Amino acid sequence: MSMSVKQVLDQKGSKVVGVRPTNTVLDALAAMAEHDIGAVLVTEGERLLGIFTERDYARKVILHGRSSKDTLVSDLMTPNVCTITPSHTMDQVMTIMTENRFRHLPVVDHGKIAGIITIGDVVKAVIAMQEATINQLSSYIAGDLAT
Ligand code: AMP
Repeated sequence: MSMSVKQVLDQKGSKVVGVRPTNTVLDALAAMAEHDIGAVLVTEGERLLGIFTERDYARKVILHGRSSKDTLVSDLMTPNVCTITPSHTMDQVMTIMTENRFRHLPVVDHGKIAGIITIGDVVKAVIAMQEATINQLSSYIAGDLAT
C-alpha cells in the first residue's frame, strides 16, 4: 500500500518557500540557495500564482541571455500550477510527476497551501515501500523454511 501525501507531510513538515510576483529572478534564486531547494512558489497572500524552478532559470533566463536582476519572477514563472491534496497517494504523485515531467507538486488543502512534495520525497517513499516489502518477503521465506 502506497503512503499518502499527508503521511509524508506529517514527517517533513508543511514549510514552503514563496516569493512575490514582483520579486526579481535574482530574489528567487537567492531564496532557493538560502533554503537549499530547487523551486519557489509565487504567491500573493494565500493565492498561488505560479511556480519558478531551477529549470525555468536554465531555460528561460540563461539560454535567452536575460538578466536575473532585471526580470520579474512573474514574467517567467509557470502559471496554472498543478497541485495535489493530502489524500493523494505517493503512487499517484509519481504518476503525475512522470506524465507532466516536473519534480515539484504543491499540496493544497481546503484552498490553503499545505506543503510541497518533490521528486526526492517520491524516491524516498518508493524506497521505504520496497524495503517494507523486502522485509515482509524475507520473514515470510524465513518462516516458510523453518516449518
Ligand atoms: P521542475 O522539474 O519541477 O524543475 O519543473 C520543470 C518545469 O515544469 C518548469 O518550467 C516548472 O516551472 C514547471 N513546473 C514544476 N512544477 C510544476 C507544477 N506543479 N505545475 C505546473 N508546472 C510545474
